[in-house]
Amino acid sequence: MKNLIDKAIQTHNLSKKELTEILKEDSINEYLFSAANEVREKFVGNEVHLRALIEFSNICKRNCFYCGLRAENKNCERYRLSKAEIINFSQHAVDLGYKTIVMQSGEDDYFKTDYLAEIIQEVKKTDVALTLSIGERTFEEYKTLKAVGADRFLLRIETTDEELYRKMHPKMSLEKRKQCLYNLKKLGFETGSGCLVGLPGQTLDSLADDILFFKELDADMIGIGPLIVHKDTPLKGNENGSFTLALKVMALTRLLLPDINIPATTAMETLNPNGRIIALQSGANVVMPNVTQGDYRQKYEIYPGKICVNDTPDKCRGCIGEKILSIGRTIGQNYGFRPKNRKEIK
Ligand code: SAH
Repeated sequence: MKNLIDKAIQTHNLSKKELTEILKEDSINEYLFSAANEVREKFVGNEVHLRALIEFSNICKRNCFYCGLRAENKNCERYRLSKAEIINFSQHAVDLGYKTIVMQSGEDDYFKTDYLAEIIQEVKKTDVALTLSIGERTFEEYKTLKAVGADRFLLRIETTDEELYRKMHPKMSLEKRKQCLYNLKKLGFETGSGCLVGLPGQTLDSLADDILFFKELDADMIGIGPLIVHKDTPLKGNENGSFTLALKVMALTRLLLPDINIPATTAMETLNPNGRIIALQSGANVVMPNVTQGDYRQKYEIYPGKICVNDTPDKCRGCIGEKILSIGRTIGQNYGFRPKNRKEIK
């Protein structure tokens, strides 16, 4: 088994069968995590890139089975930030030193492309890279958003298991989601994807397929997180995903895509109080602190127990900064593009 990991360190390739074998075997976990840590250091260095996350609307037309923002959840108190609030939160993040702003929301059609374009143009007047995480839109809409200055886009595939995808996402299709990702790539977005670990009925085989899909897409960023069960969703009563398994999927992703950006996800920290630091030492090189202000933080409840919901942007920046330095890493002072895409921003 260690031979397989050694092979991956050298070649950055593993077959589905090899990936599944490693996922199954827990005796080699520490070896896997340190291999991913080594590959991370060699390809993307010791810098940790910070991305400032603004949760600008929790209104969503979809009904994903795991997500607390799903349209049918009547217990979710909805909000939508104004343009002025988004710009203000973004400016505050810039003042704290962030070089990337991530605008995330449910699939909220109130934010039509033209309106989003106005906001993007304002945010881009400051010296930042901009990432969108707003779900599925048409090729033309993505094209407009790119043209007005969005640099990156996050859209997790969630699972590549077709049947499971269908069960978890009413009225959506895996094929369409893949098409969105290929469209984003084609348009020149730095493209992020990822999956949930621990969906009911998900197999290790299908997680291996997820990793191979990330490679086939040549994703620039991959976020992996354990499922955290929300009581106001159809997954109520199921078990949470496993922190360790999510970490393994993340570490294997690092071995196969050595030079991409991989966040230590907030969901990992929700299941393990030291989760993000452990992830940073097992292949991750990005953290996405929340810069949403006020009680919007609590209301953006994709899953329960989200960390730092009562904190301020300043507190989060200080806290994570100290943790990163304490493990001998540095904080990226630049935009933090994937090395092969590095460019200056106009
Ligand atoms: N509407 C956007 C943003 C979704 S929120 C989009 O569709 O891309 C970002 C991510 O949170 C999702 O992609 C999903 O993987 C994750 N997420 C949602 N519910 C979750 C839960 N209950 N536990 C863990 N992660 C969850």
